[in-house]
Amino acid sequence: MTADSARGLVLIVEDERAISDLLKLYVTREGFGAHVATDGQSALAAARTLHPVAIVLDVGLPIMDGTEVCRILRSEGNWVPILFCTARDDEVDRVLGLELGADDYITKPFSPREVVARIKSVVRRSSLLNLDDAPLILGSVEVDLVSRRVTVAGESILLTATEFDLLAHLMQHPGRVFSREQLLSEVWGYAAVVGTRTVDVHVAQVRAKLGDASPIRTVRGVGYSAEAPDTA
Ligand code: CA
Repeated sequence: MTADSARGLVLIVEDERAISDLLKLYVTREGFGAHVATDGQSALAAARTLHPVAIVLDVGLPIMDGTEVCRILRSEGNWVPILFCTARDDEVDRVLGLELGADDYITKPFSPREVVARIKSVVRRSSLLNLDDAPLILGSVEVDLVSRRVTVAGESILLTATEFDLLAHLMQHPGRVFSREQLLSEVWGYAAVVGTRTVDVHVAQVRAKLGDASPIRTVRGVGYSAEAPDTA
C-alpha cells in the first residue's frame, strides 16, 4: 500500500451485507482500510482494538444498537469520528436528542459516494483539529503538512511518503504515546493483525535521517511518542 493511499482504517458497522459490501468497496477505493462489524458488540470490540480513523455506524443493529455503541465509546473517552446511518426519522431524533457526540449522520437510502464524502470530511475535521495548516515544530525539526517538507535547523531532509506520514502523525500529538498497532492503523491503514515490525523499521529510518534532532521517543513496552528534545 502506498503512503498516499493510506488514510487509516474505517470501521463499517452494518448488519445488511449488501450495504456493507458496497460501503467497503467505496471506502477502500478511496484509499482507506476497511473492517466490517455486523453487530453492536463486535463493533465495540473492533473500535477498541483496531483504532479506526472513523466509524460508519448503523443505528439498527443486532445485540446492541448503534446509539449504545457510541454512548459506551464516548464514556470510555474514545472520540473517534462517528458517522451514523439512520433508517428512519425517529432514529435521527434519537441520535441527535441523546447528544451522543455523533459527528454526522446520514439517512438511508444513501449513495455510497455521499457516505465516503462525509467520512473524508469527519476524518479531516478531526485530524486537522488544531492545525490550520501551521507547521509542526518540535525542537529544531519542522514539518510542513502543506508542502510535505521536513527541515532540521532549516536544512531540508528527504523522507519517503510513509516516513513523512509517520513523523507528522506523531508530531500532531506531541507527548501522546502510540502503540505500534495504533500507528499501523492510523498511519498505514492496516488492521493490527499485520506484523508491527514495519513500524520499528520506519521509526529507525526517520531517526537515521533526523539524527540527534529526532523527536521520536521509544516508550518501552508501549510504543512511540514525539517530544521536544528538552522533555525527551
Ligand atoms: Ca440495520
